[in-house]
Amino acid sequence: MRELEERIIREGIVREGEVLKVDSFLNHKCDVALYDHMGAEWERLFAGKPVDKILTIEASGIGIACVAARHFGNVPVVFARKTESINLDGSQYRTQIHSYTHGRDYHVIVAKRFLTPGEHVLVIDDFLANGCALNGLLEICDAAGVSVTGIGIAIEKGFQPGGKSLRERGYDLQSLAIVEAMDPKTGSIVFREQ
Ligand code: 5GP
Repeated sequence: MRELEERIIREGIVREGEVLKVDSFLNHKCDVALYDHMGAEWERLFAGKPVDKILTIEASGIGIACVAARHFGNVPVVFARKTESINLDGSQYRTQIHSYTHGRDYHVIVAKRFLTPGEHVLVIDDFLANGCALNGLLEICDAAGVSVTGIGIAIEKGFQPGGKSLRERGYDLQSLAIVEAMDPKTGSIVFREQ
């Protein structure tokens, strides 16, 4: 998506450790018009496929997913919550995720009553790197017996393995910008042609 790529070039900051900072428009200060255009693009890319619900993960995914939902008939958005507490009453799906940016593991939960077996779920997130966050969400989808219509990602770092592995597993993964290479010394960012 050209508009997103241009924005990344203009405002993205390449950090050591293969981290791309885009907090001036995507995940700290939020450009809602850009979110809206991203939602329209996912609507085009997933046209004709059933979407009953959008699933994302807090915090950065929530705003993007809520605006995207406007393009999918205002379907409900459910977000996986990060939690320290242990709830043993069986009312939640629960999984462990390794955080790429924070270098630690955390648990996420989704209340069982918010995912209905058989419904069609579109998974949305801001970044795809190694795929840990998405794998956690997909595990929850499997446990809930929902059908994953597709995965919408704003920025995929194509030089990290998450995207390749999810495509090989057969998921319809649509990333609006795929960074093929980036260099913290020069600040250069190269995108994959799509
Ligand atoms: P993964 O689990 O695929 O390795 O990483 C995905 C998650 O880590 C995203 O939800 C995002 O929050 C965070 N993340 C991974 N790489 C980056 C990055 O380069 N920049 C930012 N801002 N977040 C990232």
